[in-house]
Amino acid sequence: MVKKESHMMSYGYNPDWSEGSVKPPIFQTSTFVFKNAAEGKRFFEVAYAKSKLKKNEQLGLIYSRLNNPNMQILEERLAVLEGSEDAAAFVSGMSAISTVMLAFLKPGDLLLISNPTYGGTHTFVNNYLKEIGVHVISFDFDHNYDDILNKLKQSGLENKLKMIYVETPANPTNTLIDLKMVNDVKKTISKKIGGEIISVCDNTYLGPIWQNPLEFGIDLTCYSATKFLNGHSDVIAGAVMGSKDVISQVKYLRTFLGGMIAPYTAWLLTRSLETLHVRMNYQAENSIKIVDFLKTHKNVLSIYYPGDENMDQRQNQIYKRQCNHGGAMVAFTVKGNEKGAFKFLDSLKLIKLAVSLGSNESLAQHPYSMTHSDVPEDVKNSIGITEGLIRLSVGIEYADDIINDLKQALDII
Ligand SMILES: *Cc1c(COP(=O)(O)O)cnc(C)c1O
Repeated sequence: MVKKESHMMSYGYNPDWSEGSVKPPIFQTSTFVFKNAAEGKRFFEVAYAKSKLKKNEQLGLIYSRLNNPNMQILEERLAVLEGSEDAAAFVSGMSAISTVMLAFLKPGDLLLISNPTYGGTHTFVNNYLKEIGVHVISFDFDHNYDDILNKLKQSGLENKLKMIYVETPANPTNTLIDLKMVNDVKKTISKKIGGEIISVCDNTYLGPIWQNPLEFGIDLTCYSATKFLNGHSDVIAGAVMGSKDVISQVKYLRTFLGGMIAPYTAWLLTRSLETLHVRMNYQAENSIKIVDFLKTHKNVLSIYYPGDENMDQRQNQIYKRQCNHGGAMVAFTVKGNEKGAFKFLDSLKLIKLAVSLGSNESLAQHPYSMTHSDVPEDVKNSIGITEGLIRLSVGIEYADDIINDLKQALDII
């Protein structure tokens, strides 16, 4: 059987559609001509969910907010990579995440969410969803199955549970949430209350190459495609993968919120997916060498990298069960708190000082004062976001060049 990565160059595209062009052109058009009025009527019936597609029938092209060849080719390839029935592409990761939440949560419903999550997700949940009356309960990596069931029971809201949302590994500390446990909680509560619960995993850090949450019973994976999927720091985009049934509900809301990906951005992403496994696997190899180097430097106090022997035993058990690799995000603390961290960051030459991650160039930043500056002090301390913490996104430069840059900056602290 052809492996999923080998499909990325041509899957979902037929050169006959475009004068034999080996790659899909950019379909830079807002609307599509119907062959006749009956065809237009039928396309709308399906698009507005008044009627389901018949066997072997395909939804025709209507208008680029509903569908566009570049978006469809991209979605078919994303589904192949994730091993899912379907995918939906978005204009940003936050558009993907907020559309998923709004598609399945109504005022009065309960959302159970892991902590920490990406800053935008955290703010959307706590400042917007809570305001419109969605109940939110959070848990972190050291809560086990019983702790979570107790929390739900004590809240008196378990019969309102509609969504469990997790992010693993968590940004920026690389802590892992047990996906099997999440599925067990979902099954137990769902049985008890006799209602459907949707589970979602933000898979931006390790997917789709090194972690497949759908295999653990998770219903939807969502991505900031800005990160590894695009991998060139030149696009903002998002994606959601899952079954046809669940994705069709997400796409339905996307049509009205209008967060679909634009043709040119979709085209850029299909181009990036062709090299996804080559980039990610090389970045991962580099990361192992970098972790080994960091262990030898006297100004590095601790290292957080999934699967590393320094992570605690329970974290390592989760790692073995659900991750194929530790990935290309390395977190570590340096001597001298903020002063030491800033001196290190300001001394880097090859590695760029910038937020974002997963790109082909190496990037470093200071979560305490930058990406996570909004997180309350006590929460930062309890989840390991300290003043000396550096988050490094490892690129495809030669490992020796990255290590030499890290070394000269660490020596200066
Ligand atoms: C960047 C990021 C997001 C948000 O994605 P955008 O493309 O910036 O909207 C969500 N989750 C994680 C884990 C991220 O790193």
